Amino acid sequence: MGSERPLRFVIIGAGMSGILSAIKLQEAGFDDFTIYEKADRLGGTWRENTYPGIACDVPSHLYSYSFEPNPEWSHRFSPGEEIEAYFERVAHKYGVDGRIHFGEEVTRCAFERGRWRLETKSGRREEADVVIAATGVLHHPNLPDLAGLDAFEGALFHSARWDHGVRLDGRRLGIVGTGSTAVQIVSALVDRVARLSLFQRTAQWIMPQDNPAYSEAEKEGFRRHPEQMRQLHQDLSQLFAQGFSNAVVDASSPQMKMIEDLCRANLESSVADPGLREKLRPSYRAACKRLIISPDFYQAIQKPNAELVTEGIERVEPRGVRTRDGRLRELDVLVLATGFRADRFVRPMHVVGERGQPLDQRWAQRPDAYLSISVPGFPNFFMLNGPNGPVGNFSLIEVAELQIAYILQLTELLRAGRCRTLCPTEEATGRFEAEREVAAKRTVWTTGCRSWYLDDRGIPAVWPWTFDRFREEMARPKLEAWTQAG
Ligand SMILES: Cc1cc2nc3c(=O)[nH]c(=O)nc-3n(C[C@H](O)[C@H](O)[C@H](O)COP(=O)(O)OP(=O)(O)OC[C@H]3O[C@@H](n4cnc5c(N)ncnc54)[C@H](O)[C@@H]3O)c2cc1C
Repeated sequence: MGSERPLRFVIIGAGMSGILSAIKLQEAGFDDFTIYEKADRLGGTWRENTYPGIACDVPSHLYSYSFEPNPEWSHRFSPGEEIEAYFERVAHKYGVDGRIHFGEEVTRCAFERGRWRLETKSGRREEADVVIAATGVLHHPNLPDLAGLDAFEGALFHSARWDHGVRLDGRRLGIVGTGSTAVQIVSALVDRVARLSLFQRTAQWIMPQDNPAYSEAEKEGFRRHPEQMRQLHQDLSQLFAQGFSNAVVDASSPQMKMIEDLCRANLESSVADPGLREKLRPSYRAACKRLIISPDFYQAIQKPNAELVTEGIERVEPRGVRTRDGRLRELDVLVLATGFRADRFVRPMHVVGERGQPLDQRWAQRPDAYLSISVPGFPNFFMLNGPNGPVGNFSLIEVAELQIAYILQLTELLRAGRCRTLCPTEEATGRFEAEREVAAKRTVWTTGCRSWYLDDRGIPAVWPWTFDRFREEMARPKLEAWTQAG
């Protein structure tokens, strides 16, 4: 047993996960930490995605830190700007906002002579014993490979780079993509634009879900009785774990059938025109792709000025989008709601492990990590919401909270002087990956659709077991899976 050792931490990223990490480090008495954030504000996803209609699609009282319930949520699924403001407020309340260096993109992070040496784009240098990479998963916009995109003469942007200087009222709007983002944009804008064309490659199942506002009396109740909010958080967490997360990992479960029935009934009862209904009917099972939650998408797409375009896109032209049937839809604004490159994780940051191995080399085929947290050969380097972790229709805040609690148990070993470095063994990581792949093949994500969950082999790159199992796994590190050195 060694003596207590001071540890220096660097957190990369000031989104939900980075703020959480800072708060939890502070709470555990680790005061020597700095956060680097490449942007000029915190908030990550919620700073970057400002498109009309943006809201969380898990209930706000679940999409909150468990230790910081918020009585002020305006809606069951609150808008993005409220969520961003929430993270700002929490960071300030816990005094971690002052620890963020904004406008500093970490470009290199190398483990040399027993410590992490970091460099930022501006040339700043930094050292740390422990790095927490909270760099996000849905962060790098995915741009579609459409011929002629550059030639478009109207306004063109990705949904995560919304250009608020562009006028929308009374104009002709095209949207490429049919994920959650596109669905939210359609509902928010259909009544404002002259014409809306939604270019659909794949139809989506839509789970109906109302989004009522909280009344002043309800908010007052939450303010007076924070324990009610905590209970609500717990109940929702339970509901999502039992009803959804556990359903998708067992494609033949009764919960899965219930979700499918709800989605099918929503389509049948909401879309009047049989032709349109068939165009909107997916050819795969509900929840195979990330399930979309919307109270009003079907109503929006049936408005007279809306059109669902299912012909494939031939090319983009200066005046609009030409589909394979030769038709040109003239447009003023074209939005690419085409999602994110979800396999990037900490990249393009150049991470170099203890034997000089670049992470990029290890991940050349696809990213891996033990329990989605850490990679063999990269000591004291921990990721939040890293590769192959739980994703789906539940709160990633909950995931990150469980992960940081696990990481803190490991860093206690470092602080106690039990060892100087910790990284998962190759054996444990290989076994985890092998078991994960087998289990992943039984999930609903492999039941016949293309989605961003699938890796280059068609295997879902996600946590394939129940959320309860994730909780259990995160509760206590199995130390035999970790190499403790020094
Ligand atoms: C439109 C949209 C809706 C979503 N809705 C939900 C939802 O309803 N429920 C849910 O659970 N999840 C949702 N998500 C997922 C969402 O990304 C997570 O919930 C959460 O916000 C992720 O937080 P994060 O801190 O891990 O990552 P991010 O929010 O992506 O933050 C990462 C931060 O790291 C910074 N960064 C990255 N690389 C570097 C670097 N090298 N140097 C310095 N800084 C760096 C980035 O600038 C960013 O600020 C949604 C995502 C999107 C895109």
